[in-house]
Amino acid sequence: MKSIVERLTIIKEEMHEFESRYGREPDSVKLLAVSKTKPLAAIQAAHAAGQRDFGENYLQEALEKIENTQDLPLIWHFIGPVQSNKTKQIASHFDWCHSVDRLKIAQRLSDARPEHLPPLNICIQVNISGEASKSGIDPDGLDALVADISGLKGIALRGLMALPQPEEGLASQRAACHALLELFDKLRGIVPGIDTLSMGTSADFEAAIAEGSTLVRVGTALFGPRE
Ligand SMILES: *Cc1c(COP(=O)(O)O)cnc(C)c1O
Repeated sequence: MKSIVERLTIIKEEMHEFESRYGREPDSVKLLAVSKTKPLAAIQAAHAAGQRDFGENYLQEALEKIENTQDLPLIWHFIGPVQSNKTKQIASHFDWCHSVDRLKIAQRLSDARPEHLPPLNICIQVNISGEASKSGIDPDGLDALVADISGLKGIALRGLMALPQPEEGLASQRAACHALLELFDKLRGIVPGIDTLSMGTSADFEAAIAEGSTLVRVGTALFGPRE
């Protein structure tokens, strides 16, 4: 079995190869290491190999990891569904939240962001696959949500996030990713400061990079399968 360091090197090489293959600027795509369910040692190993950004889905687990890595300069991203009663802890302990999909959550995150910290970076999660079970706002509601959150001082809207339904094959994966790219391009034209298209996982980061992703969220390919 390969070590985390070896897998990190391979993923970085693949990302560079895809950037060049699809005409993207070198280093224009950031790697978010999705460490949910993985032990602290895995995070420490990835950090020792140069990884700084980590993504977590489960609040209690994440808070423990954040607490236990305070001596490391890590950047923490919350990427799981956000319940109202979790907003205070997310706003207090994370640098990013990728999964904002309604005004109430955005408002609560903004209100709870401590004043000594810069605004919490957020992405709006969009449901591009149109499945009732998935989180994310319907694309039709995006403009209204963007307008509603524009005055909130404790958060900074940075872009969009999606977790498309799994598709077989590059062409169908690209089609799903392309739908989000179109929304992103439109948003970037009207709102200043938009620079983050959070899309792509272990299964589809080639398609995501081909379609303009600026941040891929990779768990399994880096840390191995989850239990
Ligand atoms: C778990 C998760 C990932 C990582 O998925 P892998 O297939 O393990 O790479 C990415 N994004 C979100 C929102 C996740 O919940």
